[in-house]
Amino acid sequence: MKIEIKLRIAMADGRICEEEVLSLDKPHDRLEAIGLSLAEAKDLLGRLQEHMVAAQAASFAAERRCCSHCGRSQRSKGRAVIRFRTPFGDVPISSPRLHRCTCTAGESKTFSPLTELFSEHVAPELLYLETKWASLVSFGVTVDLLKDVLPIGSTLSPETVRNHLHRMAARAEAELGEERPSFIEGFPLVWARLPVPEGPIVVGVDGGYVRARDGTQSHFEVLVGKSIPEDRENRYFGLVQSHDDKPRRRLREVLREQGFQMNQDITFLTDGGDSVRNMAVAMSPCAEHVLDWFHITMRLTVLGQYAKGLAHHNPSEAEDAARELKRIKGYLWNGNHRRALPCVAWLIDDLDAVETDYPGMKAFRKAAEEFNTYIANNAGMIPNYAERRRYGERVSTAFVESTVNVVVGKRFSKRQQMRWSKEGAHLLLQTRTRVLDGTLRRKFEQWYPGLAVNNPAHQPQVNIAA
Ligand SMILES: [Zn+2]
Repeated sequence: MKIEIKLRIAMADGRICEEEVLSLDKPHDRLEAIGLSLAEAKDLLGRLQEHMVAAQAASFAAERRCCSHCGRSQRSKGRAVIRFRTPFGDVPISSPRLHRCTCTAGESKTFSPLTELFSEHVAPELLYLETKWASLVSFGVTVDLLKDVLPIGSTLSPETVRNHLHRMAARAEAELGEERPSFIEGFPLVWARLPVPEGPIVVGVDGGYVRARDGTQSHFEVLVGKSIPEDRENRYFGLVQSHDDKPRRRLREVLREQGFQMNQDITFLTDGGDSVRNMAVAMSPCAEHVLDWFHITMRLTVLGQYAKGLAHHNPSEAEDAARELKRIKGYLWNGNHRRALPCVAWLIDDLDAVETDYPGMKAFRKAAEEFNTYIANNAGMIPNYAERRRYGERVSTAFVESTVNVVVGKRFSKRQQMRWSKEGAHLLLQTRTRVLDGTLRRKFEQWYPGLAVNNPAHQPQVNIAA
């Protein structure tokens, strides 16, 4: 059968434009020919987009043809072509140039009315799609994905996508306020008069490493965090430690967007590192700093794996070590570092005395010593986890997977030999954290309010039953 698709546009000035867009010869006796093919759909969307954009641009230009002061028609001085990149193709737009009316003195002699409308040459929704997908998968896969499903311009390259993502992240960065040594505002009398806050907020902050592309170091540190309010949506945040000069402001803004106020309970669960603690310091007069139980168990798990390895060589010594580890875990869970630390010391002594051909023995001893230092250094941040749990308080923000693995691991992939510049990693972290917690679209709608109108999530629900 023959299918003809026609477009009818009622222009702003009342004219009607009718055009044939596409005609298709479609068989109706083969499964794969039923409906539009991907190629036909892309062709159709691309053609529709060209007609629509041309009509809209023409209407905009027509309204500016006459002088806005005296109403006289302004003479044409030729045309140029603007390329507008959209999710449905790169659209060439014929842009008129006009002689400015003589009644407006002092300004340039000619002007192009469409430069006012096309202040950017990439459609916001294309920027959004590129930023979203490149935050989740590589720049190259993003290009493949978009080209597969959309009639997107053939010139779209991984470099373009990266540049666009960086531009969007930099735009958000520019909106961040100035850094301060402390974000504690007001004083106790003022806090006492604040309204009753919502439930407590728990913030987990953790450090990880990303492979460096240039410089003398092979890796650099990233900090990532997750803020979990009792009554609101979770938020992620991230930064490159040696690149970012506003870590506290960054955290402060996430908390502010979550409605945080000075009289609200807030707990920071961290791995105890200095950089992590520096970020969380001076955020609130009600802040409590706790060693994240996740980091204790991770280290104990590693020690337990060494004990299992030792069991193949020295079963009885391995059994002793495993028993000691279990006891240490029990003491720490109950917040009793005073009894846990001597046990760790005994474990180290026992391990020193073991004669074995277990190849992991040296690493086992080293890990035990590091654990000893870790617990001793962070003893002041070890609460009674068992009691906290009984009262329904969080002892960890990482239940299934560490926040570092979620935010950094997959996209910055340690396994592939992907290398990053500090700035590139930092900017990607800004968009990736927003994609992960679902706030990227909101940011774009703040920049381009018209996008909100087209978002199905904002459409009022139609009650069909009524
Ligand atoms: Zn005029």
